[in-house]
Amino acid sequence: MTTNEYDVIVIGSGIGGLVTATQLVAKGAKVLVLESYIIPGGSAGYFEREGYRFDVGASMIFGFGQKGTTNLLTRALEAVNVELETIPDLVQIHYHLPYDLEVKVHRDYEKFLQELSSHFPHEREGIRKFYDECWRVFNCLNSIPLLSLEEPRYLTRVFCQNPGACLGLVKYLPLNTGDVARQYIRDPQLLKFIDMECYCWSVVPAQRTPMINAGMVFSDRHYGGINYPKGGVGQIAQKLVQGLENYDGEIKYQARVTNILTKGKKAIGVRIATGEEFYAKRIVSNCTRWDTFSSLLPPEMIPPQEKRWQQRYQKSPSFLSLHLGVKAEVLPPGTECHHILLEDWDKMEASCGTVFVSIPTLLDPDLAPTGYHIIHSFTPSWIDEWQNLSPKAYEQKKEATANAVIDRLEKIFPGLIAGLDYQEVGTPRTHRRFLRRQDGTYGPIPRGKTYGLLGMPFNKTAIPGLYCVGDSTFPGQGLNAVAFSGMSCGHRIAVDLNL
Ligand SMILES: Cc1cc2nc3c(=O)[nH]c(=O)nc-3n(C[C@H](O)[C@H](O)[C@H](O)COP(=O)(O)OP(=O)(O)OC[C@H]3O[C@@H](n4cnc5c(N)ncnc54)[C@H](O)[C@@H]3O)c2cc1C
Repeated sequence: MTTNEYDVIVIGSGIGGLVTATQLVAKGAKVLVLESYIIPGGSAGYFEREGYRFDVGASMIFGFGQKGTTNLLTRALEAVNVELETIPDLVQIHYHLPYDLEVKVHRDYEKFLQELSSHFPHEREGIRKFYDECWRVFNCLNSIPLLSLEEPRYLTRVFCQNPGACLGLVKYLPLNTGDVARQYIRDPQLLKFIDMECYCWSVVPAQRTPMINAGMVFSDRHYGGINYPKGGVGQIAQKLVQGLENYDGEIKYQARVTNILTKGKKAIGVRIATGEEFYAKRIVSNCTRWDTFSSLLPPEMIPPQEKRWQQRYQKSPSFLSLHLGVKAEVLPPGTECHHILLEDWDKMEASCGTVFVSIPTLLDPDLAPTGYHIIHSFTPSWIDEWQNLSPKAYEQKKEATANAVIDRLEKIFPGLIAGLDYQEVGTPRTHRRFLRRQDGTYGPIPRGKTYGLLGMPFNKTAIPGLYCVGDSTFPGQGLNAVAFSGMSCGHRIAVDLNL
């Protein structure tokens, strides 16, 4: 192999890309990761300003549990002999919802059921039956090693070892959460709550959220729990890179891939913005499917399968993100790390409707100067609202929209406005620019009702030699989900390369 030749090239160092790369170096592959930005992590990256270390996106982290098979971030780090200290978060979310519905999702399952049932005593039984059904999904997932569903020998082995769990998963694969919830629950307000329970990570209501994903999220929060990485979410990518390099893998920053090179119909390499070319037996794209198939490959190479997928799935909105530094006294003792705020159920999916809040300094105070906290608040926003504006109009719109969100936050955190120390606002344009995601999208969402997870593509693509990994592949958005995608992509490629 010459210096520019590798077994595998990974385009992008999001968590999906890094997990693929580390799984493969651990098996002895020669791997190169090409990242367009100056640090790894993508949506799980960070930035520093005036003594604050802000998470770019994710702050509510699943997958750091110590038991079972679904703790994929723990496992991904272990695979390359690195570790990360984490801090348990005992309440996943404090919801502030219409009609004064205030609910905390406690790590303790019974405590959560009790709290929710106290708001809907007539649905006590239905609540338990619904969430218990989610556990059944989770228990199936958590009893098998989670690897590539495209690898027949693995599927046969897992089936022979645990036929009950596999058949269970096959049953749930085509189901959506809303349909299951309606088997047990009648109260329209409670069904709205279940919608929000799904929306806050899938960005679609329960009727369009696959039951497999809900089973994972609604149970793992009480099992492995939510755990925050000490030093900030950016540490996950930093540690994975450390592991990659310990195993002789390479990563290049400021290396934006402009083209996937093909020979015949096969992917054989990549060209970066400087004109340099790199070649490999397998190419993995950690970009969104829209970026992979509409920017990196010539239009005539878009496979018909991708066109069909784009008819079924669309880009979710992006976010307006507020990164705030606030005086510590703004947050009274007992304030939880994650909050969801919505005043009107009809606005749940609207632009600037649902407001998400994370305050990671409640778990790791070292992320802010002494006496201050970080508040990261974000709310859905579409790129179209931010296009064709003069620089002045863009700045004015940013300020006005951010102020409207802060006014709403003031109601749950009285004194916030007076206690503001630092403020930075990102728009869908910021997400597009720094995360290189088309329209700044959070990821794919079904256009209409789909059959559970059956429509989400796995890692192989119709182009020989080209694989996709990350949130536009099965099972979708979220760090533990893309870690799953990375593990299965690494597994599939390792089998293909006889590693
Ligand atoms: C505001 C926000 C909040 C979130 N909150 C949570 C949360 O609390 N919990 C949770 O689990 N998840 C959360 N998520 C979702 C989660 O962060 C993502 O699903 C996940 O990080 C996506 O990972 P990925 O591997 O698909 O790739 P990405 O994170 O998109 O990374 C892709 C990488 O590829 C690079 N790249 C792109 N194009 C090129 C190119 N042409 N050449 C070279 N490099 C390229 C990018 O720079 C980037 O580094 C949140 C996301 C956002 C935006």
